[in-house]
Amino acid sequence: MAFASLVLFLVSLAIALYVHYSQMDVLQQLLKGQADRTQLKIVDSTQDLLADMQSMTKRWVNDNGTSEHNWRADAKDFIKRIDGVDGIWWIDAELMNQWNETYDSKHVNRGLELLEDPEVVLKLIKAKENNTAEISKAYTYDGENVVFIFQPIGQGENHDGFIGIEVHVKEFIDDLLGDPLSSGYYTKAYANKEVIFANGPELQSGSYLEHFELNLDADQQGWVFKVYPTENALNMIISPLPYFIAVAGTIISLLFMLTLWSKQKAKNQSKVLANEISEREKVQFELEYLANHDTLTHLPNRHYITNFIEKRVKLSQANNQQFTILFIDLDHFKDINDTLGHAVGDEMLKKLPVLFNRVFRHDDVIARMGGDEFVVYLPGKLSIEHVTKLVERFLKSLEYPIQIGEHQIRLTGSVGVAFFPQHGSNVTELLSHADAALYRAKDQGRNTYAVYDSEIEQKAKDRVQLISRLHIANENNEFEMYFQPRYNLLDNRVVGAEALIRWKPSDHQLVEPAEFIELLEETSLIIPVSWRLLKQSCQQFVQLTGGDSGMFMSFNVSAKQLEHPDFLNNLRTTLTATQFPPQKLELELTEQTVIQNVENSQYILNEVAKMGIAIAIDDFGTGYSSLSYLKNFPFNILKIDKSFIQDIDTDKDDLELVKTMIAMGKNLNIVTVAEGVENNAQLMLLKNESCDQVQGYFFEKPMTFDALHQLCVIGAEVNG
Ligand code: C2E
Ligand code: CA
Ligand code: CA
Repeated sequence: MAFASLVLFLVSLAIALYVHYSQMDVLQQLLKGQADRTQLKIVDSTQDLLADMQSMTKRWVNDNGTSEHNWRADAKDFIKRIDGVDGIWWIDAELMNQWNETYDSKHVNRGLELLEDPEVVLKLIKAKENNTAEISKAYTYDGENVVFIFQPIGQGENHDGFIGIEVHVKEFIDDLLGDPLSSGYYTKAYANKEVIFANGPELQSGSYLEHFELNLDADQQGWVFKVYPTENALNMIISPLPYFIAVAGTIISLLFMLTLWSKQKAKNQSKVLANEISEREKVQFELEYLANHDTLTHLPNRHYITNFIEKRVKLSQANNQQFTILFIDLDHFKDINDTLGHAVGDEMLKKLPVLFNRVFRHDDVIARMGGDEFVVYLPGKLSIEHVTKLVERFLKSLEYPIQIGEHQIRLTGSVGVAFFPQHGSNVTELLSHADAALYRAKDQGRNTYAVYDSEIEQKAKDRVQLISRLHIANENNEFEMYFQPRYNLLDNRVVGAEALIRWKPSDHQLVEPAEFIELLEETSLIIPVSWRLLKQSCQQFVQLTGGDSGMFMSFNVSAKQLEHPDFLNNLRTTLTATQFPPQKLELELTEQTVIQNVENSQYILNEVAKMGIAIAIDDFGTGYSSLSYLKNFPFNILKIDKSFIQDIDTDKDDLELVKTMIAMGKNLNIVTVAEGVENNAQLMLLKNESCDQVQGYFFEKPMTFDALHQLCVIGAEVNG
């Protein structure tokens, strides 16, 4: 491409040069023609002049008696006839000036002086010998060039002197050449390098000119004539066309090159830009993918589905369309993570998309909200029956055992259903209502589903309200501890008491933990509330045990508390501050609490044990854990869950289970406690199996500290 523009440039240069040289050629020829013409004119005219002089001398030879009068008439006629001739002399054979006729008197003296010039004398002798006209060198008078021409009169015996004429060079040649402006050429004549004639301006250097030499007589060095064009003539011949062509060619090729260059540049730039854009698009895409997808299952994530539903809400409102939201939660998935490890849990989650895809259609959107929670968006209007069938099919599909490594795992799930637009007008409402329905399904025993309805709505509202009331209760110190005594089966003596939380709103009667303990944990309010209550209970028990009654206090610890990093610190501070002896404290933890974070629990509980505090495993039998597993923790007490005790007097199986648990405790050298003993029959059976301690309504219900104080100290004193 650049080559093309170079060629264009060279071609235009060549054309320009060609035109230039053609012009110069034409000029040269014209000049040559003009020089020839000029030469011709001058030679002819000079020869005419000489011939004229000759015929004049002949008349003199033929008519020796010519009178002075006739000679003067002839001479006058000559001067008049020929432009530039200013004077005529008759010089006799003795070289003396005899007669003269001049245009003006000043010329007379010139002729007289002339004859004293030896050079002129030599010329005259030469003219006489050769019988030819001789021309003098150029003389300058008053800045004007003048030459003299001498013609001998007669020959040999008849030689009678000379006719001499004075010729004004400029006048003579001007007359011959005419106006140079009309001929188009100037002429310049040099004699011995001196200018003797010029009818134009000074020659500019580099001007175009042509010259010729002119020799008028035998001995004279020739005059050189130079011919050069007038400016007008030159302009007519030499046009600026070649320059124009060259400049135009250069400009065009430069423009061409510039265009090519900028085109190439733009091309390169757009290439770079395109690369940059595609790179940026790639990164953008990856970022977008990451922002919108869950890395484990590659399903859309919470961010994506909330945005998606938000858009669907707007679109569906505009087009009067409907859709359905399913909120799915896997039942007890946490237990899989806790007992089989997170790697197994993750593998399990990875297999779920396949499972989902078997049930849900292509245009349904499935997203992982986090953990074991999923949301499914089902487009279009679906009847409750349709959705019910779909959900049942999904729950059924979950039940197929999934093989992960050596483990065969069966899952169940719970599903909450919400319809748009019936159950919410925005994404937050729809999701929270589907979630509320999910809670209901879980409440109903899991592995089932619930469709959002007014009852759930009420419950959800109640929940929100209760949370705010619990916050206020915390600020107002509306919680207090009740205590339920524990008895030694051997002697029916009170060995200690379990602290059980109660809520006493100022305008309300006592509320039992079943109503609020879950929310207290969810909101983490359990942490400040518990520490305050522990401190308070310790202070109370110090009064109680002041007399060294030997009674211990048992305190329930939730998972939230246990995993809090300040747990050990707070515990130590509380005991020190209240001067409560650690040996009199017992912490109750459920299996569930302990296995939430096994390593942490193990560390904390070992530290607690080192402090001399006893550790009880609460609600034993309701969890998953095997006994060998529990051996890893420093348990001192095993509290058999009341659900087993309830029916031991009527249900043989439960009795067998309780028997085994007691035997197990004995094996491990652990104190066994039966919770929820409500009647004598149950008590007798437990005595039979040598259960160590009991707690239950059969003895005492949870009571205020004052009541406990009355019972244990004052009562004992009275009894004692
Ligand atoms: P839990 O630790 O198993 O406490 C024993 C529960 O059984 C108490 O219920 C008690 O009143 C009840 N109970 C005792 N004897 C009988 C009986 O003979 N029959 C029947 N039906 N029930 C009996 P409560 O006080 O309502 O506490 C319920 C649960 O709330 C507790 O179960 C415990 O898990 C939790 N909780 C109570 N106070 C606290 C606390 O201060 N902190 C923590 N983290 N949890 C607490
Ligand atoms: Ca307990
Ligand atoms: Ca219990």
